Amino acid sequence: MFQDKTLVCKDCGKEFVFTAGEQEFYAEKGFQNEPVRCKDCRTSRKTTRSSEREMFDAVCAECGAPTKIPFQPRNDRPVYCSACFQNHKSR
Ligand SMILES: [Zn+2]
Ligand SMILES: [Zn+2]
Repeated sequence: MFQDKTLVCKDCGKEFVFTAGEQEFYAEKGFQNEPVRCKDCRTSRKTTRSSEREMFDAVCAECGAPTKIPFQPRNDRPVYCSACFQNHKSR
């Protein structure tokens, strides 16, 4: 059976309870990992993520991999995935 478990939040370092009910839910879903953040940090991450800039879908001009870029892709400028972008910078 599941038992309440105290975990330490990765973000704020505070202890939080991973309740038996949550563990059961995780097990049902087949999640392998325990939560690493407390509820507050999870909630604040969600809200900051949604307020982030819009990302646009693009295709890497080098390897053809789909990637996301923070600006509207333009046909006259090649777009690279992060791996190819690093390659270009180091070249
Ligand atoms: Zn936290
Ligand atoms: Zn690429």
